Amino acid sequence: MAENIDVVVIGAGPAGYPAAIRAAQNGLSVVCVDSWKNRDGAGALGGTCLNAGCIPSKALLESTELLHRAQGEFAAHGIKLGSIALDLAVMQKRRASIVRNMTGGIGSLFKAAGVTAIFGHGKLLADRHVQVTGHDGSRREFAAGNVVLASGSIPTELPALPFDHERIVDSWDALEFTAVPGKLCVVGAGVIGLELGSVWRRLGAEVVVLEALDRFLAIADQQLATEAARQFKKQGLDIRLGARVTGATSADGKVSVSYTDKSGAQTLSVDKVIVAVGRRPYTADLLAPDSGVRIDERGFIQVDAQCRTGVERVWAVGDCVRGPMLAHKGKEEGVAVADQIAGRYAHVNYDVIPSVIYTAPEIAWVGRTEEQLKSAGIAYKSGVFPFAASGRARAMEAAAGFTKILAASDTDTILGVHIIGPMAGELIAEATLAMEFQASAEDLQRTIHAHPTLAEGLHEAALAVDKRAIDSINR
Ligand SMILES: Cc1cc2nc3c(=O)[nH]c(=O)nc-3n(C[C@H](O)[C@H](O)[C@H](O)COP(=O)(O)OP(=O)(O)OC[C@H]3O[C@@H](n4cnc5c(N)ncnc54)[C@H](O)[C@@H]3O)c2cc1C
Repeated sequence: MAENIDVVVIGAGPAGYPAAIRAAQNGLSVVCVDSWKNRDGAGALGGTCLNAGCIPSKALLESTELLHRAQGEFAAHGIKLGSIALDLAVMQKRRASIVRNMTGGIGSLFKAAGVTAIFGHGKLLADRHVQVTGHDGSRREFAAGNVVLASGSIPTELPALPFDHERIVDSWDALEFTAVPGKLCVVGAGVIGLELGSVWRRLGAEVVVLEALDRFLAIADQQLATEAARQFKKQGLDIRLGARVTGATSADGKVSVSYTDKSGAQTLSVDKVIVAVGRRPYTADLLAPDSGVRIDERGFIQVDAQCRTGVERVWAVGDCVRGPMLAHKGKEEGVAVADQIAGRYAHVNYDVIPSVIYTAPEIAWVGRTEEQLKSAGIAYKSGVFPFAASGRARAMEAAAGFTKILAASDTDTILGVHIIGPMAGELIAEATLAMEFQASAEDLQRTIHAHPTLAEGLHEAALAVDKRAIDSINR
């Protein structure tokens, strides 16, 4: 006998768990089922982001950046330390404990909101029935008023480089190395590849990044990408563009990676290979053949702009649907769907989604790049302010990079903001808010920013849009 319930959410990642909590806040009865199993076989909430993505990667980025600064910058501040040693086991223990704490926190949030969590596999049947098979083998069936599919994504595997999870690894494996590899190959110079490459480079690994595209960080504004490439080179990341991996062989504890570039066939001998070429939507055994939900040719669940699948009151959100694979994009979709289910107004503004790369310097942007504006034929003005002219950045010994604002030539509306420099991931929030409110460069010019702060870079870049910057030379 199926149990009646208002909402079943399949997946408790950053798209699914906010949907479940908001639906419960809206007074609905909610079950959220998640199949994630940690290394020890125990179920955990939070999906990729909390267990194997955003959170553990940021924990390691923070720790390794501290080590790097202690080694390279403290002396400039006049701080003399004895020898600085790495204790990787402690660093990894800290990472694991942050993950445990955060994933456990979702359990507490569920309890407080009245969401019933089930560890197990969910499958959508016909007529909004959901079959749940618990990790303990138990079976339940729900007759749901609404179903939210939030099954997320998994790493893309290269046929030429299949994971053995020992030497040829995915991003989750790469967060859990127990020793620093002597030489590391990262395949893919995207966000995840650059973050993981930075972590292990700072810990002493020799890192070669192979990127198939000829252009570095093609998704970013190219002025930003050029500066990023310069900074990464200075840090010793060996980034090779136009390098297409063709195969790999493992022998005597080493992996020999074959690739081709413009000079022909190449090989590279390394201790480990991290394959970070992207992620693909995960829908394995999620949909019964008669569920009615459609998958597109790239494996994404088909949805409209409101995340409706086309089957009445079945919705899909997060990495398993179109759009950028970002935790905050999934969260907004999950919350919006839960509000729509309750008959409330909801809207996701896909034009204003910030992106952050948590390297050092950090890289962040929102809105359109110069290249996108040019190809769309939109006339724009550009204002750039270097962190070298920021008193706060100088005080932080972190003056590399700049803030750049692009505004429409006719209306002055801000069209894009691109930051490379200290705390760019935090600073982009102001730009995102400005764009959400359709602010003009003049609005930012007239907003008082505390001195000395990194955020003054936004103020000055907005002034530079009209060649009125005070603290840097207008060009
Ligand atoms: C190394 C790394 C770093 C990242 N860093 C960032 C970052 O800094 N910022 C950012 O925004 N994004 C980051 N991401 C991306 C981010 O993790 C994803 O965009 C986000 O997790 C997607 O959320 P989701 O809820 O759609 O899917 P997921 O987080 O993948 O969660 C889906 C959940 O559904 C479960 N599930 C799947 N099928 C079923 C089923 N049939 N039954 C029950 N449960 C099921 C899965 O087990 C999983 O727990 C990172 C990713 C990686 C790998």
